[in-house]
Parts: sequence; C-alpha cells; structure tokens
Amino acid sequence: NAWLLGNQQINVFQPKLQISLKDKVELEEDLHRAIEQDELDVYFQPKVNASGQILGAEALVRWQHPVRGLVSPIEFIPLAEETGLINKIGYRVIKLVCQCLENWNTKNIQLPVAVNLSARQFLNPSLLKEIWSNLNAHSVMPDLFELEVTESLLLENLDAALPVLNSFHQDGIKVSIDDFGTGYSSLAYLKTLPLSTLKIDRSFIKDLPQQTDDCAIVEAIAFIAKALKLQVVAEGVETIDQLKFLSTIGITVFQGYYFYKPMPVLEFERLLIAQSQSKSAIKEITCREN
Ligand code: C2E
Ligand code: MG
Ligand code: MG
Ligand code: MG
Repeated sequence: NAWLLGNQQINVFQPKLQISLKDKVELEEDLHRAIEQDELDVYFQPKVNASGQILGAEALVRWQHPVRGLVSPIEFIPLAEETGLINKIGYRVIKLVCQCLENWNTKNIQLPVAVNLSARQFLNPSLLKEIWSNLNAHSVMPDLFELEVTESLLLENLDAALPVLNSFHQDGIKVSIDDFGTGYSSLAYLKTLPLSTLKIDRSFIKDLPQQTDDCAIVEAIAFIAKALKLQVVAEGVETIDQLKFLSTIGITVFQGYYFYKPMPVLEFERLLIAQSQSKSAIKEITCREN
C-alpha cells in the first residue's frame, strides 16, 4: 500500500494487511480440511406466503469450524471461488440437499429447495451431470431441486450462461435470479433467458416503506415480473410494515427474519412436520364439516 506525501511516494507497512493475508492462507488450508473432514453443513431458510405457510426453502452452506465456530459463507465463498474449492463445496451442498429431499419424501413432504451457485460452479461443465447423479441416487424429482444464481453472474457470462440455462430448463430444473436489481441496469436479458423467479435484493427491502424511492423500485420490479410471467420473492423481510407494503403491491412470496432465520435441518424438519400436521388437521375439520 502506498501513500503520497507531497511528491514522495511512501510505502507504508500495514500489519493489518499482513494479518489478513496470513488469515487467507490459513483459511484456505482450513477449507481443504473442512471438505475432507465433513465440517460443511447446510441450513434451511423457509420461503413463505403472507400467512407464514412454508412454500419452499433456500439451502445456505455453513462451516462448523472446530476453533472459529460457525463461519459465514460470506467469509469463505469468495476464497473458495478463487481457489476452485467451490466446486467440491457445491457438490457437497447438492448431495446434502438431495439426501434431505429424499428423507422428506419418505415422510410424504414434498417441498422445493433452492441451492446457490457461484460463477465457477455454474460454468463448470460437470455441474448438470453431478446434479443428475445426485437426483437419481436419491430418487428426487427435478422440480423439487432449484437453483439460485446472481444477476451479475449471468450478465458477465451471458454467452456461456445461455446454453447452461437452456439445459436446466429442458431438464425441468428452475433457476432464480438472486439479489435482483443489484447487478446491471439492463433488463433486456429477462425476456431471452429461461428463468422462473426474481428474488428482489434485501437492499431494496431494508428501508421499506419509509424510503419512497425503494418503494417505487420494488413496485416496478413486481410489475415487470408480472408482465414477464416470472415469480417474485422478496428477500430479507424483517418487519410487519415491510410485509404489509409488499403485500399491497402484489408480492406473495417472502423470505426473511420476520418469518424465519436460516436453521439447522432438524429444526426445519420439526417445522415442516408441524405444518403438515396442522394442514391435515385443517383438512380433517373441513371434511367433517362437509
Ligand atoms: P443469498 O443467496 O442472497 O442468501 C441470502 C442471505 O441473506 C443469507 O445469508 C441469509 O441468511 C440472509 N438473510 C435472509 N433473510 C434475512 C433477513 O431478513 N435479514 C438479514 N439481515 N439477512 C437475511 P448467508 O446464509 O450468510 O449467505 C450469504 C450468501 O452466501 C448467500 O446470499 C449466497 O450468495 C452465498 N451462499 C450461501 N450458501 C451458498 C452455497 O451453498 N453456495 C454458494 N455458491 N454460495 C452460497
Ligand atoms: Mg440465494
Ligand atoms: Mg439473495
Ligand atoms: Mg444476497
């Protein structure tokens, strides 16, 4: 790092930078071990309707580090992407999700789960084959297995992304655009790519309904999505006022701390079972009444 003092350039020793490089090397070594020793896990965050009924879930990777504790994907996904370790991590996540889907199926619970993909995973030619080998091994229908990719991923690799999206589309695997609205200003691509859902980025939801610019942006996104027959999910819903505003402009699917935080699989399963029991209880009551 260089500072300019008058005309003189002075190189400044930055202990902080050194620590972060050391951290990075350590983190990379740790990540190799994490993959080998099975320290990676997935949490599930429900996607719900306005009354809180669970419609699906997003799988979010977690790293249970023996010393650091739970490490956030924000801390290790970029490094994993840089080093290529992301592919192994991604395959692990895909496998864990398929195991869960298989297990829920035996309990007669069918719920779509979305897996996040980074650019390096998405453009890896083995991805589709790897997904199918897991779907087949666990008897999972492709319509329960969804993907989330960011807008910037698609647009920075548009030529390469299109055939990949087409093959997912052909195979019945839905793809959502994650963090929608933060990537590019061009909307033209929406009409050409086979996509199922726009996930409105949390940054637009955060200050609703006080921030009138954000209200206008979110309303415009909802309008475009409807016109293009895309589903919409509002990410990062934290308050009742946000939920009320989003509902009045016609958004019906939500994800956020107001409803649920991401949770370990056992907790999520308890929730699913409780919900499916209350649903069948409601069904029983209506049957008796008829
Ligand atoms: P994302 O896909 O946009 O996931 C949403 C993130 O927002 C999650 O953070 C979730 O915990 C958080 N979130 C959800 N609702 C709320 C809310 O109401 N308020 C706030 N403040 N936050 C909320 P998380 O789990 O830390 O994941 C961060 C990012 O890491 C994800 O963003 C995704 O881009 C990436 N990621 C997570 N799992 C994977 C994975 O398996 N593979 C890849 N390639 N990336 C992953
Ligand atoms: Mg996501
Ligand atoms: Mg997102
Ligand atoms: Mg995000």
